[in-house]
Amino acid sequence: MRCLVTGVAGFIGSHLARRLLDEGHEVVGIDCFTNYYAREVKERNLRDIVSHPRFRLAEADLASADLSPLLDGVRVVFHQAAQPGVTGSWGAQFHDYVRNNIVATQRILEAVKERPLDKFVYASSSSVYGDVRRYPTPETALPRPRSPYGVTKLAAEHLCQLYHRNYGVPVIALRYFTVYGPGQRPDMAFHRFVAGILAGQELVVYGDGEQTRDFTYVSDVVTANLLAMASPLTGVSLNIGGGTTTSVNRVLRLLESLCGRKALVRHQPTRPGEVERTLADISRAKRQLGYRPSVRPEDGLAQLRGSDAIYLG
Ligand code: NAD
Repeated sequence: MRCLVTGVAGFIGSHLARRLLDEGHEVVGIDCFTNYYAREVKERNLRDIVSHPRFRLAEADLASADLSPLLDGVRVVFHQAAQPGVTGSWGAQFHDYVRNNIVATQRILEAVKERPLDKFVYASSSSVYGDVRRYPTPETALPRPRSPYGVTKLAAEHLCQLYHRNYGVPVIALRYFTVYGPGQRPDMAFHRFVAGILAGQELVVYGDGEQTRDFTYVSDVVTANLLAMASPLTGVSLNIGGGTTTSVNRVLRLLESLCGRKALVRHQPTRPGEVERTLADISRAKRQLGYRPSVRPEDGLAQLRGSDAIYLG
């Protein structure tokens, strides 16, 4: 099967492409290497697949390129490309979020709407819930994003469901809850923590560290995408979480013991857009997709310690 992975050079997109190739699929990957973080990190994400005979990389911007030629023969689209990051989405940078999250999604939906697609999987986010204070959070909760990033991810999710209802695009939106693993974006907390501990540098923890997150190991997220591809389900949004809740302080303790060193922690006030707690109700994904997260935080974090997983530059 020929699949298209947008954002293929990113953290999740590169893991997904690797798994699709391992399972015998053909992958067309699109990425425009935004400068949100270093290009060399993204090139490293693709290092072991870039010359695979069933992989083709198109360096193209979803918000402006002619997407039609890239869709020839494609049966499944995994739309992972986005401008990520909650706290950077305020102010002048909002423009990048509108462009890479909303405009890019609308353009790829337009490009696929008349094509015979088997599935369109959209990478949504727990950030759509924001101020919903119901735990575990079910998909039926009315989203109330707390950041401009969350607003753009929700807007794009609405666009996907709109194209499903009007043009029959076979959409499934997966709302990922904080994803971690080797190749995690350098701006994300676990990555910063491991890099800081290994380098003996001070780490910044926003808030008192007692905020909790539902963390999802990247291989579980990739599996959820493959389950969505195989499922007859369309027109739904499903939570994809790790099934446990862990505080930032507990993560730090686990990482200290894995790295064999103490973390030097400096606390700073919580930043606008961040939430105190996330916890996914994943019963629907379990029931409807057969999704079962299988990696515990202590096992997943151990994979992050390897020097190849961390960008120290
Ligand atoms: P990432 O930044 O590592 O990957 C995104 C990739 O998309 C980047 O390589 C970037 O260059 C590319 N991209 C952005 N705009 C583009 C455009 N206009 N055209 C072509 N390529 C473009 O991010 P990630 O952490 O791998 O996240 C992947 C997806 O998962 C995103 O949609 C994100 O919103 C979603 N998500 C991630 C998390 C998480 O914890 N990492 C949680 C919830 C949702």
